[in-house]
Amino acid sequence: MSNPIIRLEGVQKVFHTDEVETHAVSDVHIEIPRGQYVCIAGPSGSGKTTLLSLLGLLDTPTAGTYLLDGKPVSSLSGRERARVRNEQLGFVFQSFNLIGDLSVAENIELPLTYRAMPASERRRRVEAALERVGMSHRGRHLPAQLSGGQQQRVAVARAVAGEPLVLLADEPTGNLDSKNGDAVMGLLHELHRAGTTIVMVTHNPEYARHAQRTIHLFDGRIVEESQHERGA
Ligand code: ADP
Repeated sequence: MSNPIIRLEGVQKVFHTDEVETHAVSDVHIEIPRGQYVCIAGPSGSGKTTLLSLLGLLDTPTAGTYLLDGKPVSSLSGRERARVRNEQLGFVFQSFNLIGDLSVAENIELPLTYRAMPASERRRRVEAALERVGMSHRGRHLPAQLSGGQQQRVAVARAVAGEPLVLLADEPTGNLDSKNGDAVMGLLHELHRAGTTIVMVTHNPEYARHAQRTIHLFDGRIVEESQHERGA
């Protein structure tokens, strides 16, 4: 595979708590080509969130190498890691994670303020992102004034405004009813068709089939991989 956007080599994550050692992720090798839509599946406790945290530079591996767009990122300093995370990765979490006292537009703009970018460009990106998720008329609202489905669309807008190399989604429909869940999955589908690389954790087998490939974890190891013909 030439130049995968993500390459993990022998990645391991061990947690130590109260003298208990948990091998949350063990000896994981993954290559994800640019533009692929990947689902990570597995039972509760199988290491899905830990793996997504490693991919998202929210955590560091105990061992192994992570190459993001060909560059080693596993041993970056905290500050560099935060910069790469902010500039190259987008996140959508189950719990939306919007800031309650900032407007929708301010929530989307906030991560961009940490980047060297003129205010006019930030505003352009915020407007484009709001339009992309069908929320242009909601920019001045506070998150609490929106439904859960709308809040998750704002979270998707915040992620895509950064024009990330990879979008990481952890149970993005977990707090939504099926109608809103379908709408958010539709948005991810569109982003994928526009070229975004997506790695998503989901428990929902129907939604997993939206992806092109599923990586199945069990006890922190990859036990199976499947490709979906129906994938986006
Ligand atoms: P999943 O997302 O598939 O439910 P997790 O990645 O959350 O799985 O957890 C994998 C294993 O690692 C579990 O046994 C869990 O208890 C453990 N684990 C996860 N995070 C931590 C942590 N911060 N400290 C200690 N153990 C953890």
